[in-house]
Amino acid sequence: MSVPVLLLLLASLLQAQGTPPPAPLTLVSREGRRPVQTTMAGGQELIALDEVAALFQVAVREDTLAGGLTLTYRGRTAVVSVDRPMASVAGRVVALPSAPVRSGAGRRWLVPVELLPRVLGPIYDARIELRRPSRLLIVGDLRVPRVTARIDAAGPPTRATVEIAPAAPVNVTTEAGRLLLRVDADALDLGLPADGAGLIDQIRPGDQPTTLVVVLDRSAGAARAMPSEAGAVTRVVVEVTPAAVADAPPPAPPPAPAPESAAVPPLLFAPRPVLQTIVIDPGHGGDDRGVRGAGGTEEKQITLEVARRLRALIEARLGVRVVLTRDDDRTVGLDDRTAAANNSKADLFLSLHLNAAPAASVAGAEVFHLRLDQEGDAARRAADTDAVSLPVLGGARRTIDVIRWDLAQARHVDASAVLAGMLEEELRAHVTMGSRPLQEALLRVLTGVNMPAALVEMTYLTNAGEEGRVRSEEFQNAVAQSIFGAVLRFRAHLEALRQP
Ligand SMILES: [Zn+2]
Repeated sequence: MSVPVLLLLLASLLQAQGTPPPAPLTLVSREGRRPVQTTMAGGQELIALDEVAALFQVAVREDTLAGGLTLTYRGRTAVVSVDRPMASVAGRVVALPSAPVRSGAGRRWLVPVELLPRVLGPIYDARIELRRPSRLLIVGDLRVPRVTARIDAAGPPTRATVEIAPAAPVNVTTEAGRLLLRVDADALDLGLPADGAGLIDQIRPGDQPTTLVVVLDRSAGAARAMPSEAGAVTRVVVEVTPAAVADAPPPAPPPAPAPESAAVPPLLFAPRPVLQTIVIDPGHGGDDRGVRGAGGTEEKQITLEVARRLRALIEARLGVRVVLTRDDDRTVGLDDRTAAANNSKADLFLSLHLNAAPAASVAGAEVFHLRLDQEGDAARRAADTDAVSLPVLGGARRTIDVIRWDLAQARHVDASAVLAGMLEEELRAHVTMGSRPLQEALLRVLTGVNMPAALVEMTYLTNAGEEGRVRSEEFQNAVAQSIFGAVLRFRAHLEALRQP
């Protein structure tokens, strides 16, 4: 065989079998997402007609009389010409980029992917939209906004803009080292920059189909995101400042030329204290007794007693304002507790509880802070106000109200994790700890709180020995002292963060 003939053969093989495109198409529908394989040949992106038949439940047959391939769906028919780049749909002629070709040993028909919106779309009972740049094949009336991101300035501060068109509500949460943008849509049509710049390492798709992640550089400090709606577009402006100056006051203007002997001007203002107001939330109250021990001790009573001891300690030794979400035996809803904390512009929120377990032997203190990850995403998707059950000791599960869409706590999750760690360490020095002393959980009382927050389960009231102990002054003081110690450490932590 001569070389030219071999080349010709190779070329025709390539022509018939094609080469894979950069990525499969993603079919997005109410039922979910799935990849759809296509092939590139002769500059066209092609899809196997038998694949189309299987995907869309369309009957396909070669019709020699009609001189083409017929596609039939629920009695509606379109005919695709086999030798010309066109089709006939309900009496109208529709252009295609190329005619069908046969491929491979199976002699499968390959058709241009544009057949899906142009030929199948009109006879199908759902909208079919092909967005080739983003490799999306959208079936049905789904909200799939175009989401484009760009970095406007490397800075610092580093500035980036995310645009969502058509406009859609967007929720931004701050997590360790990243911002998570969650768009209220069915899917996203993403156009993202290949590289980061400045304090933004990367802007990439999130783990969920409607999320976008701004990955911050290790030297990044505070990151702010400001969503706004302008006409048909939602715009989110992201600004990232370096770690060292993130929480510092704005830099002073350069000093004016002055005689060498001039004294450094004194600082004319004292910075606002990092802790001005602390909210203590005694769990339960009124009709809601919380856990009840076998001996009749009620959670709501102990939480209030410890809260009062803690308030006295903090007020006497720190001179900080302390707000209790209830100071008597009253019923207070979770949202009212959150609102009380937010309205008082508190810097810290501590919720006090006593735990329960099916096994009477379980005992010890546990500290909870809010988690925001896949579990949070799953719970949030399940329903806005549904309950989620979390595993507890003894193999039982515990039902807790899950977080809502608007998560005030989201921006404080890192600080809250630090606070919870300090609480756990201080409690460990004074009381017995549970087998999982530090836990992340979806606790609804924490989610709407717009400040660092944690929840302490002092011990298990279902343990008979512990029930006796929790009423004692010794135990209550030990818990209050531990929490006070953690508040002191947390204040030092906040002050250290403020140093330039
Ligand atoms: Zn409780």
